[in-house]
Amino acid sequence: MGDKTKIDWCDASWNPVTGCRHDCPYCYAYGIAKRFGAHLGDPLKWENHVLEHPVRTSETHEYMRMAGIKEGTVLPYPYDFDPTFHKYRLDIPFRWTWPRTIFVCSMADLFGNWVPEDWIIQVLEACRKAPWHRYLFLTKNPNRYDELEDKGIITPEDRNFWLGSTVTVETRDKMHYHSKMHTFQSCEPMLAPWPKAGPPNPESMKNHWMPEWVIFGAETGNRKGKVIPKKEWVDNAVQMCRNMGAAVFMKDSLRGIMGPDFVQEYPWEPFEKAGGGTPL
Ligand code: SF4
Repeated sequence: MGDKTKIDWCDASWNPVTGCRHDCPYCYAYGIAKRFGAHLGDPLKWENHVLEHPVRTSETHEYMRMAGIKEGTVLPYPYDFDPTFHKYRLDIPFRWTWPRTIFVCSMADLFGNWVPEDWIIQVLEACRKAPWHRYLFLTKNPNRYDELEDKGIITPEDRNFWLGSTVTVETRDKMHYHSKMHTFQSCEPMLAPWPKAGPPNPESMKNHWMPEWVIFGAETGNRKGKVIPKKEWVDNAVQMCRNMGAAVFMKDSLRGIMGPDFVQEYPWEPFEKAGGGTPL
């Protein structure tokens, strides 16, 4: 799937790989994949799936037709939330002729340990074939970035790649910085208080690698045990960003909590809207 998106910090999302095994209790993607999934996988097996062509309703269980889904409709999640490589989607960025900021795999963790390296290589190659876009990646397993960098699979020449790591609890999750790659953090959902940041200390920051951009967001949905962040947590985290010179982007879910302190910054200049930019 590649399409316009409701995600407010990018222009489009593209999902050549779907499915994830992290099992986060607040996962929005799991709910979507279950709701619109075709349940083709074996629920008793943990399997990866590779699709050369899209799966359509006509190839699936009778119940899809009974659910009123039109004959011939392409099914976005044939195997629900099982890791699935949709190879037929690889050319989508190349077909988008105007530059966009693309969130790669909003419905997966492309860098999860279960994802074959070959899938990642093919996705990255598809990105390189359409270098007029900016590609944002996001993972809960940033060690995989390190491994891929060590192997030369991701390189500092990939200037339009932004390597993101998700941090929900400041003191627990691993963060990823790199001196030569663009990096960012997504602190969404914020699940715990953030410690108060000290005053800016340029000397202590000098030899640290810092992300250039940090996204903050509150948990959405109605999960039992849902965590609603306090303004103070966000204020502390923002101060930390200010100290290290990172741009701050607050998702709409924080608008009510932050009031006049709500900000949405980007670390790059925006692409010109359709009608500008670089056509093929
Ligand atoms: S890492 Fe993301 S996609 Fe995977 S289970 Fe957690 S929230 Fe869902």
